[in-house]
Amino acid sequence: MAEKQNKMRYSKRSLSAQAMGKIDPKTKGVVPPIHIATTFIRDPDNGYSSGFVYGRPDNETVREAEAVISMWEEAEASLLFSSGMAAATSVFLALKPGDHVVAPKVMYWALRNWLMTDAKHWGLEVSFVDMTNIESIRAGLKPGRTKLVWVETPSNPLWSLTDIETAAEWAHAVDAKLAVDSTVATPVFTQPLKLGADVVMHAGTKALNGHSDVVAGVLATSDISPFWNRIVSNRKNLGAVLGPFEAFLLMRGMRTLDLRVREASKTALDLAERFSTHPFIEEVLYPGLATHPQHALALKQMKGGFGHMLSIRVKGGEQAAIDTAASVGLWKRATSLGGVESLLEHRASIEGPDTPCPPDLLRLSAGIEDVEDLFADLDQALSKAHK
Ligand SMILES: *Cc1c(COP(=O)(O)O)cnc(C)c1O
Repeated sequence: MAEKQNKMRYSKRSLSAQAMGKIDPKTKGVVPPIHIATTFIRDPDNGYSSGFVYGRPDNETVREAEAVISMWEEAEASLLFSSGMAAATSVFLALKPGDHVVAPKVMYWALRNWLMTDAKHWGLEVSFVDMTNIESIRAGLKPGRTKLVWVETPSNPLWSLTDIETAAEWAHAVDAKLAVDSTVATPVFTQPLKLGADVVMHAGTKALNGHSDVVAGVLATSDISPFWNRIVSNRKNLGAVLGPFEAFLLMRGMRTLDLRVREASKTALDLAERFSTHPFIEEVLYPGLATHPQHALALKQMKGGFGHMLSIRVKGGEQAAIDTAASVGLWKRATSLGGVESLLEHRASIEGPDTPCPPDLLRLSAGIEDVEDLFADLDQALSKAHK
């Protein structure tokens, strides 16, 4: 580890801006070529001296993007998947039928749904616990049977936090792995592996790519363990590798990751503070606010910013929230998050009846537009909805 740090002479921001300094060796172009071949020439002695055999297990452009992610997460290895869901499910499918998992009550909706339905066919037993209270994680563990604790922090769409360091201690005490969905924190603000997590997951679709034009998933590990090798095998055999064009776009997006997420996070904090005293807003949910119940943990765990995601609870209930969303101009009414364009969404309509999401909640993903424009646009929409 120390040796790895000595080798890292430049900051993460610098290394990311230059995609680890990769160039085209033939032309000396400052952008490496996209490697699209699906098959590779075998040596006369029957070997594969290049290390590449076929396009499903591996790809050079994918590896180059993975190197950028490993640098950000200070990981031993990273894997890129065809989506965030492909990455996440590959972790659960590395468990064995009969294994027990502890997962959060409030988490990314599609994954929660999968854990409640299809994961059962694989024989996994899942306990959903309140992860804002670290005691409930401990109470949810079944020593000998729990093989994985899944954490999402900050968690969608209430932006509550889980203490990664303590969760790792307790997971490891029963010989379980800790995996963290760190999509919203981004590697700029939190490095879960350094806090004791075994695996970190990102929807590359979101802030890592940042331009709403790639679907991708990421896993990074602190240790090439048998568990990690089962994940590697899942990606290969389930055929969930990212395509080279997407890997190239993701790598391009990550050149500006540091700039984008710091700016969007500043905007999110500014908006959260201003909306806290807005006459048509009941409550603002954002870990950067001093009034957030877990602000102390946010300060400890998130370094340099609290992320680009916040939610507002609109006075007047569900209809007022939907009417507000209907009246925005600059904000775009759409699902997803982490792009340079600001998005807003009435989450409860998407998540359905058993959601923990309050009906008056609008989820906001701050982009990089002018914060004054973003404030004014939402302010006029709130006024219109309360006419
Ligand atoms: C979007 C998202 C995912 C899933 O990623 P996809 O690329 O859509 O499959 C998982 N976790 C979080 C927190 C997300 O925002």
